[in-house]
Amino acid sequence: MIELKSERQLDSMRQACRIVRLVLEELKKRVKPGISTIELDKISAELIGSYGGVPAFKGYRGFPANICTSVNEAIVHGIPSKRVLKDGDIISLDVGVKFDGYFGDAAFTLAVGDISQTAKKLIDITSEALYIGIAQAYNYNRLSNISYGIQNFVENNGFSVVREFVGHGIGTSMHEDPKIPNFGRPDEGPSLKAGMVLAIEPMINEGLPDVEILDDGWTAVTLDRKLSAHFEHTVLITETKAEVLT
Ligand code: MG
Repeated sequence: MIELKSERQLDSMRQACRIVRLVLEELKKRVKPGISTIELDKISAELIGSYGGVPAFKGYRGFPANICTSVNEAIVHGIPSKRVLKDGDIISLDVGVKFDGYFGDAAFTLAVGDISQTAKKLIDITSEALYIGIAQAYNYNRLSNISYGIQNFVENNGFSVVREFVGHGIGTSMHEDPKIPNFGRPDEGPSLKAGMVLAIEPMINEGLPDVEILDDGWTAVTLDRKLSAHFEHTVLITETKAEVLT
């Protein structure tokens, strides 16, 4: 796990994260019934390039696209395609950017047109769960208090936490130690320190937590084919709290 020491490191990290944020803000405006996920991919690649960044997911372990677009029962790692979004869908958009050797990573789930009450609640709870995790990301707190906070909140609201995928340290690689599960007991794992950068990312299912990987080798879907949502921020631990960089 990286611990940012110099202003230059921190500047590059901030820039990578800023590009992620700008891309996600643009995608938020573009997501509507009628747009295809490959169009969203193309928009993202152009924007990332225009800011001097590189799409971090492209080619990562052979991933074939620039961003991940995971629709409805897809949890994460959906591959952009000709699939056209329709009213009532939900879509999780995950964007990773490399800038000057440093990585930023963030995601959110959006409604496409009018969605069900259940879908709305799933999105709201997952978004809130991320901020509950971030609230535990402070100097000297134990890592698993992030995990425990997220799981406790999500399960009290009747949803389930995906076990197969977890948050992570981030810095000069996209995925660094430590792993940050979205479940676990309190007061375990390493103590957090100012300067650490973490990607916290609850993946929350409407039904059972179980996962299946589709034949494309990437797309993770819920085994019961119920909905899933995903929110992620890259955050910097400071002396007082976590600063959201994305
Ligand atoms: Mg991530």
